[in-house]
Amino acid sequence: MQYDDSIDNSRKYLRHALELIGKHGLPTDPLNYCIWYEYASGKNGALNAAIDNHLESKGAFSEAISRQFFNQYIAGGKETVTTLVREELKKVFAAIIGAIKTTNQHFSRSENNLETINESLVPSLSEADVERLVDQIKHEIKNLESSSTSFKEQLQQATHEIGQLKSKMSRYRNEALKDPLTQIDNRRGFDKKLRNAIAEANATETSLCLIMADIDHFKKVNDTHGHLVGDNVIRMVAATIKDSIKGKDLAARLGGEEFAALLPDTPFDGAMKLADNIRLTFERLDLKKKSTGESLGKITLSFGVATYKKDEVAEDFVHRADVALYQSKETGRNKVTGADLHRP
Ligand code: GH3
Ligand code: MG
Ligand code: MG
Repeated sequence: MQYDDSIDNSRKYLRHALELIGKHGLPTDPLNYCIWYEYASGKNGALNAAIDNHLESKGAFSEAISRQFFNQYIAGGKETVTTLVREELKKVFAAIIGAIKTTNQHFSRSENNLETINESLVPSLSEADVERLVDQIKHEIKNLESSSTSFKEQLQQATHEIGQLKSKMSRYRNEALKDPLTQIDNRRGFDKKLRNAIAEANATETSLCLIMADIDHFKKVNDTHGHLVGDNVIRMVAATIKDSIKGKDLAARLGGEEFAALLPDTPFDGAMKLADNIRLTFERLDLKKKSTGESLGKITLSFGVATYKKDEVAEDFVHRADVALYQSKETGRNKVTGADLHRP
């Protein structure tokens, strides 16, 4: 876990976390502080979705569930990966050190044997003695060759294992940034790419836009058709947003039924148009339940769009898009609102 929230935000999250702990009748212990702080910050999409799902289906929280969620969504992930990789690296190092030691032993044995041969090279040697010594030297050279061949093979094996470990690490790192339900980036992936996109936009002075989207009245979908159908709708929305963007753009699921599209090198008008196209796609769609063909009714989304202002911090940028999204909700839903459009 790594928290780098501003003081204001951290106070806000903590206050919200305490309210939630009270609301669910949980003990105010460090484990619950941690879970609910992370939940209140909304930065751990997988944890938030798991908690929301759990509350939706079971209605209450138990200590065992808290512990399970803590282990799975907070303590797990990064720490487990690092431990796993560290253990595997230790094994590779042990093998290399073992190979060096064995090779050293073989070399010093050969060194001793060659010394002995050298010392026995005296003028009084017979022809047969010289022949015997030459055979011994040949034998030692063979030993040295085979030791160094096996050392080389062991090093190659270690290099191969380290290569595999490296790709495993990058696979784990990518998995930690992906949302398991939709396979698009999660909040962590979004935060990381947002930082990079902001740095790029500041450096190149290009236009960076952010679309925030939230499914309208999604609770009703779950209530009417059940969670599994709700999950399918979330998958479908993620896929549609992903299919609507291109190139350097990023689609992410920020939590429950909230999504973002980050659009580098895109003017505000373009981003507004893209958001409206996604909105229209859903407005025109008649989604049906896979199992029965029953219509799910209209699924609509509300959107907020913001253009990055030079040197603005990420939180403010996201906040402006969020406020615009909130305006869409407030003024009727199934809408796209641009941030700061009504200000001078
Ligand atoms: P609004 O139009 O104001 O956005 O209303 P809403 O009902 O969409 O918003 P609200 O935030 O009240 O409810 C969101 C619901 O989304 C509550 C939660 O149970 C559900 N949800 C969150 N994550 C998941 C998920 O992973 N799967 C499913 N099926 N539902 C989820
Ligand atoms: Mg919603
Ligand atoms: Mg929401």
